[in-house]
Amino acid sequence: MRLTKFTDLALRAVMRLAVCDQDGSVTTREVAEDMGVPTTHMAKAVSRLQHLGVLEARRGRGGGLGLTRLGRQASVGWLVRELEGESEVVDCEGDSPCPLRGACRLRRALRDAQEAFYATLDPLTVADLVTSPTGPVLVGLVGRRPE
Ligand code: SF4
Repeated sequence: MRLTKFTDLALRAVMRLAVCDQDGSVTTREVAEDMGVPTTHMAKAVSRLQHLGVLEARRGRGGGLGLTRLGRQASVGWLVRELEGESEVVDCEGDSPCPLRGACRLRRALRDAQEAFYATLDPLTVADLVTSPTGPVLVGLVGRRPE
């Protein structure tokens, strides 16, 4: 099982915001820089997270990104499911659809395995992801940024 880059970026963004968004002035560019990814890519992940109600953008002077209450309490399993959408482990329907796709035991087994993967993430919350040792590393990354 491999997550899309998009899902990984979104998870990095929520972890980043889970440690340091109290003053609500963190920008998308700063989140991207702290997490070592292009701002344009991070902007797409941030937009999707806003749509899901996981984070909000506060407007005006000193405005920025912050996690919502849902974002802090969200199940990682739920979040990954939402970000991954309907994607399957194997692309049975792509440009050259597999002739077995309508009656394939392997496909069923892979769907079950995918669900088991998500289920292991269900008990974890976003807040859990930034307990030690991850949280202190994130705080260090943020503190390294020049004023
Ligand atoms: S063999 Fe089954 S799992 Fe593999 S591509 Fe075909 S339908 Fe999908």
